[in-house]
Amino acid sequence: MTSKIIPLISVVIPCFNEQEVIEITSQRLMATFEPLDAYRLQMVFVDDGSQDATRQMLAKMALDDARIKVVTFSRNFGHQEAVTAGLMHSDGDAAVVIDADLQDPPEVIPEMIEKWQQGYQVVYGVRRARKEGVLKRVAYFSFYRLLNTLSSIEIPMDSGDFALMDRSVLNVLKLLPEKNRFVRGLRAWAGFKQTGLPYERAAREAGESKYSFFKLVKLAFDGIFNFSTRPLRLILIFGLMLFFFAGGSAVWLLLRRVFDITLFGSSPSDVPGYASQMIVSLLFHGAQLIAIGVLGEYIGRIYQEVKQRPSYVIEQIVEKTSSQLEDKITR
Ligand code: UDP
Ligand code: MG
Repeated sequence: MTSKIIPLISVVIPCFNEQEVIEITSQRLMATFEPLDAYRLQMVFVDDGSQDATRQMLAKMALDDARIKVVTFSRNFGHQEAVTAGLMHSDGDAAVVIDADLQDPPEVIPEMIEKWQQGYQVVYGVRRARKEGVLKRVAYFSFYRLLNTLSSIEIPMDSGDFALMDRSVLNVLKLLPEKNRFVRGLRAWAGFKQTGLPYERAAREAGESKYSFFKLVKLAFDGIFNFSTRPLRLILIFGLMLFFFAGGSAVWLLLRRVFDITLFGSSPSDVPGYASQMIVSLLFHGAQLIAIGVLGEYIGRIYQEVKQRPSYVIEQIVEKTSSQLEDKITR
């Protein structure tokens, strides 16, 4: 049998209320692989606790087509968790992560495969243009720059989760036990030969963005706090600077008091200075709260990891078995 040596490419598609697009997405993926005789396609859809018809539609698609595997979560666990589960359940020699809404064009996948054949174990898409609102673009732009300033590993700029990963990288990701997963960061951390592939990010095919403002903030925080302890060091440096500044000011004030030095018409022996006192006090209280908040972020993360809870719960896996004698629904 020759089919044994034809490489299998798993495409992981996280879906949260995507009933409008999943069929088009699977068709586009199949059409993309149609001319690629040298590769077999597997589609791993992860239903991230959808409330619409996504779940039923996916189950039906999986029972109709042996190339489709569906992993269903017991509730909405989040995009990064869905991507992780999809990668864990990929059987391919390589896996590609793609959004369900076709913002990442499937037509880029053959180029990724080509790079993979040239020996790169990670081929990540780099967004050349974003057809999204100005606010979101500015937010992403600043986030990636801040992340790279803070992070101790280099996370490629403007690259999302759209990427191809070789089996060797998937095996590394499988071994990582951490719970709050920022997949594109873990991918960069894994190492191996990596390369970027520029592409135009399209607008969403149908439906609305499933990323609420708070989900985006969570993603940004996971990116920063999971990949850097530099904010902790910045607090220390800032605190030290304040300490020396305060020490200097104290000496200066003492000298003025003792020698009664008058500056701008006032001397420390007068009472005025309420405004400056208030400003200083508010500023310092603010700085302290920020510092405590940063500490809290790390403690919260330690707490999460210590609990050892899984990052998602799978309710069922639906796939047509390769023998096609019986359909498999694992619970
Ligand atoms: N998604 C998910 N769980 C969520 C939110 C989003 O699996 O809780 C999926 C969604 O179905 C899509 C991908 O993550 O396939 C990207 O989401 P979306 O397109 O809504 O985000 P945006 O492109 O607007 O940042
Ligand atoms: Mg999208």
